[in-house]
Amino acid sequence: MSADAYALPLPRPGPDDAAFWAGCRRHELLIQRCDGCTALRWWNAPMCGRCNALEATPVRASGRGTIFSYTTTHRAFSPAWQGKVPYTVVVVELEEGPRMTSMLVEAPAALRIGQHVEVVFEDVTGEVTLPKFRVI
Ligand SMILES: [Zn+2]
Repeated sequence: MSADAYALPLPRPGPDDAAFWAGCRRHELLIQRCDGCTALRWWNAPMCGRCNALEATPVRASGRGTIFSYTTTHRAFSPAWQGKVPYTVVVVELEEGPRMTSMLVEAPAALRIGQHVEVVFEDVTGEVTLPKFRVI
């Protein structure tokens, strides 16, 4: 799909999350491991919130986790989302510990907290692949 055909807003990778988005293009979910205290984190940040270290190493996560929270949107909040509702935004607690905000590719009728999910990658343009989740 070309960038012109994808109407929704897309992320613009910067220095802190370039490795994350490159991993997504390879269909690998990367989280950061602090080089100072080894804490794992998602989202990609320039500094550790625990020890203030400035260095971190991207590590591959399993892509599996459980639903920590979710909400289903039935009303488009901007014109770009017309025709995309309803959709479900989830906070996934990854097996490695960090919590990650994403979307479900398809929400089952009986969605509940604690359900197991796994990452799926949606190649939306030649440059951007979005990590989403599906219930397993
Ligand atoms: Zn740290």
